Amino acid sequence: TDFLDRGNADPQITVCVRKRPMNKKEVDIKEVDIVSVPDKQRIILHEPKLKVDLTKYLENQQFRFDFAFDENCNNEVVYHCTARPLVRTLFEGGMATCFAYGQTGSGKTHTMGGEFLGKNQNCGNGIYVLTATDVFKKILQPKYRDLQLKVSASFFEIYSGKVFDLLNGKAKLRVLEDGKQQVQVVGLSEKTVDSVDQVLDLIRHGSRMRTSGQTAANANSSRSHAVFQIILRAGAGSRLHGKFSLVDLAGNERGADTNSSDRQTRMEGSEINKSLLALKECIRALGRRGSHLPFRASKLTQVLKDSFVGEKSRTCMIAMISPGMSSCEHSLNTLRYADRVK
Ligand code: ADP
Ligand code: MG
Repeated sequence: TDFLDRGNADPQITVCVRKRPMNKKEVDIKEVDIVSVPDKQRIILHEPKLKVDLTKYLENQQFRFDFAFDENCNNEVVYHCTARPLVRTLFEGGMATCFAYGQTGSGKTHTMGGEFLGKNQNCGNGIYVLTATDVFKKILQPKYRDLQLKVSASFFEIYSGKVFDLLNGKAKLRVLEDGKQQVQVVGLSEKTVDSVDQVLDLIRHGSRMRTSGQTAANANSSRSHAVFQIILRAGAGSRLHGKFSLVDLAGNERGADTNSSDRQTRMEGSEINKSLLALKECIRALGRRGSHLPFRASKLTQVLKDSFVGEKSRTCMIAMISPGMSSCEHSLNTLRYADRVK
């Protein structure tokens, strides 16, 4: 209930961390849990001899965030403190963005898409669906009725610096910046939706697209960013009112593939590295008026440019942590990154 009480503030940037539970395989091989969440804000990496490289050993590493979710928190609680407050931003005509960051296997897709994107297809309780549910509830409120709001959705993937439409056969799309410095993804599908069920259909379809074919030189979900957008348009002219972008980022360990002997892998790694660095800088700039916004540094930040400008922009990052000793280095990298975004 502590979490529920604090879910109503309106900060421009919220940075949270979520530790997932040990899975069966980790329990079976007696993987050691080195992560603890002593209270609702702190997270500690415990390892008296944390071996970062051959020369360095570190003591326990403690970090503090707006929220720290332990392995017993479910998606509803995480949603309540992260994306839910941003639904108001969307209705008030702002740009809301929620990022899931972390290494592959740390729980990004579980948090965003819910279990039904995993093996277990029976409960769609991820942030995509919980957000859509609240949007359809809120649109019925009297104060929004006069705006004649309509809900629509887009779903695309950014892989190796290219944009692919997940709601239109993975069509490759161009990104253009016009004279007024507005960034446009040319031809991106935007489907009108009237119910949560229709949103679920789009998510299922797009997610299947994301993992199917694997044509673009065996792209897989760990190497691409997936962006699901809920859009509100107002009035007869369908003027853009607000946009909520929910981003399942590429695995951050892929950013380290820059030393791979395979050229393709190396290029992908450097692209991911570049985009995650640019993202960090863009989010930081959001909280510091007048600072430089390096959105052109990557395709990800370029297409999300309108999320980083304007008084009404709100951003939330959820850094995902795997509990095991073998993920130690990646977990430390993830926590340091999230710490820099604050
Ligand atoms: P990522 O998208 O970051 O690569 P996933 O979301 O696919 O990671 O998670 C990896 C596995 O761990 C999946 O089988 C997922 O269902 C499971 N998992 C992740 N987070 C949780 C959680 N909080 N509770 C239970 N299972 C989880
Ligand atoms: Mg995933």
